[in-house]
Amino acid sequence: MPSGRTQQDAAQARPTGPRPLAPLPFDVEAVFPELFGTAREVTLLYPRAGQPGPGDSSIGGPLLWPADEPWPMCAEPGHYKPLDAPVGPEPVAMVPVVQLYARDVPGLVFPAGTDLLQILWCPLVHEDDQAAANPRLHCAARR
Ligand SMILES: [Zn+2]
Repeated sequence: MPSGRTQQDAAQARPTGPRPLAPLPFDVEAVFPELFGTAREVTLLYPRAGQPGPGDSSIGGPLLWPADEPWPMCAEPGHYKPLDAPVGPEPVAMVPVVQLYARDVPGLVFPAGTDLLQILWCPLVHEDDQAAANPRLHCAARR
């Protein structure tokens, strides 16, 4: 039986503010003493399925990109698709990873005069990638 709730109703019912985490069940620095002194405050992103627009913070969603600014390209020679041959010398369009508006991440420090962070990466693997842990990034901070 349909609930009668629309997708928009469900989205509006989602909590939007900071969500405190439960305390850790053990003392991390006691278990991993090599981490002593490295603790710092972080922001845990809590993405949910949806249909974000360029005016929303998102992971993998559309970016608010200036019409007069060229889209970032990765021109690194020899990058390749996994289990495939290197891609030719032509540049490859980078893909959106995350877009964050300052209003949605109050603890994140933005460069002066900016309130939007965009991170894109090359979707291909590079020779010095180790388990794809070293992607080529393009970061933009803008207003
Ligand atoms: Zn690349």
